[in-house]
Amino acid sequence: MTAENIVAIATANGYSGIGIVRISGANLLNMAHQLIQKDGINNNVSNNDTPYSHSIKSNEIKHKMATYCDFYAANGDILDSGLILYFKSPHSFTGEDVIELQGHGSPVVLQMLVKRCFELGCRLATPGEFSHRAYLNGKIDLLQAESIIDIIHAESESSARGAIKSLKGTFSRHINNINQALIDLRMFVEASLDFPEEDIEFIANAKIHNKLTKLQQDIRLLLANTKQGVLLNNGANIVIIGRPNVGKSSILNVLANEDIAIVTDIAGTTRDIIKEKIIINGIAFNIIDTAGIRDTEDIVEKIGIDRALNALSHAELCLIIVDATTGITREDENILVKIPLAIPRLFVHNKTDLSEKITPANDSSHVYISAKYNTGINDLRDAILTSVGYENNSNHDVFTARTRHLNAMLLAVNHIDNAFTNWHNLEILAEELRYAHNKLSEITGEFTANDLLGEIFSRFCIGK
Ligand code: GDP
Repeated sequence: MTAENIVAIATANGYSGIGIVRISGANLLNMAHQLIQKDGINNNVSNNDTPYSHSIKSNEIKHKMATYCDFYAANGDILDSGLILYFKSPHSFTGEDVIELQGHGSPVVLQMLVKRCFELGCRLATPGEFSHRAYLNGKIDLLQAESIIDIIHAESESSARGAIKSLKGTFSRHINNINQALIDLRMFVEASLDFPEEDIEFIANAKIHNKLTKLQQDIRLLLANTKQGVLLNNGANIVIIGRPNVGKSSILNVLANEDIAIVTDIAGTTRDIIKEKIIINGIAFNIIDTAGIRDTEDIVEKIGIDRALNALSHAELCLIIVDATTGITREDENILVKIPLAIPRLFVHNKTDLSEKITPANDSSHVYISAKYNTGINDLRDAILTSVGYENNSNHDVFTARTRHLNAMLLAVNHIDNAFTNWHNLEILAEELRYAHNKLSEITGEFTANDLLGEIFSRFCIGK
């Protein structure tokens, strides 16, 4: 079955110097000829082209070469002029013939080019269809396809660099290495199952144990790197919580280095959730400043408080702001009981400038600062990073990863652990290794259900 030819605008919607229309399909050279020659035939080639007349000979389009030319409507009118790039199958992003038309970045002009491509037999690409075809044609694995979107949406330089590493196959290579070790071990175990004589079993057992130990070490290291990768990619949600007037908005402001929340000394100023993004060491944090949680009859304030408690359920960290001059009060305790125990807590004692008699707790979950005088803010940043599991370790291979990868990896680690516990029972061992192998293969897309694929690619934008 031949795939249909697809077309889409690949650049962002809006006005810009250059806009790109991307086409993928079979035998596109023929279509390219019709697009760049007046009347679709080669009889209008001018020998004395001006800079604004670029009707060209069809045979000038070459693989991986950019050619400056005019793009024509069916009736011979010029639609635009720009570059045509041609990538011959299989040496293209999708593995099919690919053409890029680089015209002027006007939504109207680009739409005209897309319409012309419709006349020439293309249909509009669905979201992520180019990447999906690249995946189906074996040009990239699923993990690499996902990293394309991660590059586009990267919120810091570090996450962009990490996503490029994933696209270049760093993460996939780690998975494939472990998978290869798993395959070797599985073959060995299955062979041992077929030859249950005692002496063979004895030799086999020693080998299996060694191989399993190495496998367990390798997968745990990769799991640690994957956790860092997810953090780099997704960032983390932090909820700032605390009594009115303890300085929540002020802390948000110093962390973000700008005035977003309104700071006043009237209790209950912050009536709604304010979200702000801050970057600490390349990790993007969504800071959610909650309404001052307290018992109130004010309906608007009550709504804010409900939202604050709701935001808590999606948080990776809860910053509990307390007044350093009073320490944790009974009122603070009343707020604390509302926070799910599973969410890590960091106590931030603010307003240290107001009292000289503060005895700091000898505990890494307590930080002492003055938002007003900007003291202790770097300690606060470090404590935040540590609390969400960031490891400032240059030995880490820094690639981005997704929650989907982490979940599959956790299950694979579970199966390897089960295999380890049952290593003397070859049948259970074989089964657990098979499960682990399947889970890891889900990450790169070797064993991935079609509906999951559909879901992953549908989140891409059109033209990607
Ligand atoms: P929120 O209600 O918890 O968001 O508190 P705000 O950030 O609005 O601060 C309440 C009051 O405390 C304001 O007058 C701030 O200027 C003041 N404040 C905040 N942080 C500090 C601090 O570190 N030291 C002192 N002295 N005052 C502070």
